[in-house]
Amino acid sequence: MFGIYKKKRLAVTTVVYWFLLCYIVAALAWWYIELWNLNEANFAIKEGMLNPSANDYRQQLDNLLSQRSRKIAQFASEGITFLAVTIVAAIFVYRSVKKQITLNAQQQNFMMAVTHELKTPIAVTKLNLETLRRHRLDTTQVDNIIGKTLEETNRLNDLCNNILLSSQLEAGSFQLTSEKLSLNDVVNESAGEFARRFQKRDIRKVMNEELYVSGDSLMLRLAINNLLENALKYSQPAAAVEIRTARNGNNCVIEVADTGSGIPDAEKKKIFDKFYRIGNENTRNTKGTGLGLYLTRKIIEDHGGSIYVRDNQPSGVVFVIEIPEINHER
Ligand code: ADP
Repeated sequence: MFGIYKKKRLAVTTVVYWFLLCYIVAALAWWYIELWNLNEANFAIKEGMLNPSANDYRQQLDNLLSQRSRKIAQFASEGITFLAVTIVAAIFVYRSVKKQITLNAQQQNFMMAVTHELKTPIAVTKLNLETLRRHRLDTTQVDNIIGKTLEETNRLNDLCNNILLSSQLEAGSFQLTSEKLSLNDVVNESAGEFARRFQKRDIRKVMNEELYVSGDSLMLRLAINNLLENALKYSQPAAAVEIRTARNGNNCVIEVADTGSGIPDAEKKKIFDKFYRIGNENTRNTKGTGLGLYLTRKIIEDHGGSIYVRDNQPSGVVFVIEIPEINHER
């Protein structure tokens, strides 16, 4: 729905813009022709006033001709400058408006997604608690319901953390702590948490030597959690997800690989934008807010690192994080 709305507004803006720009260029061309004609008429009058039999006729005519050329050069340079400034300004304004419209549509998308994402866990939790109160259930059933309720509250917790954090990080009001961290410990904690939450999924770890980074363990775990969550979300339930650590020069590398739906090359950069989700609200069947990767990149960059995504073989993607290693002996 918002995709169509955005396209319509963008189409109207584009038409209005092209119309205005064409009008300005046409007015400019008209103005140039008018000035040219005036100049020619002026020249003709002045030339008519010259006396051909006068001694200095040749010199006066030369003066008039050079005056005419100077005027033409002046109109041309003024016109070209004005045209160039107009076009640059039009491109600048058009790009800003386009960006603003896209951001507005993404924010509306986000509000819809968030409302849905908030309502579902709350509704499920409420229903589960009411079931527990009304019915006498055996221990297995109670465990089952509590497990599902916890899963929903965890999702709710993640969502709230993501929303809060992105606004705090943006406002610069969140201070990252900086301590020496074992990367393997951070990865183990994240992978362990997901293994508990998604007991039926195959989450594999490949870690060799100890690697140390300087940073905020909570934030790094959140970044890794977002990647693991996506890897599980965008691949088949039976498919394995792998998390690996390694060293690359002076950097520590964390890779999260899946064999899921993959990401088209044209989307590989955009997915890190705020609120960006591939496809539109009607075709998407996964839940999300488009905040996870934005936040992940922000956290990694605040740790002096970088993140990118590449294709996995035979399918899926690998998200690659690189963070400077500390205590690295060259
Ligand atoms: P969310 O998952 O909440 O939509 P993210 O910021 O985490 O938001 O991801 C942005 C988009 O990138 C997702 O909507 C999805 O289309 C795409 N994406 C992220 N991770 C993967 C993945 N592992 N496989 C396929 N697509 C992915």
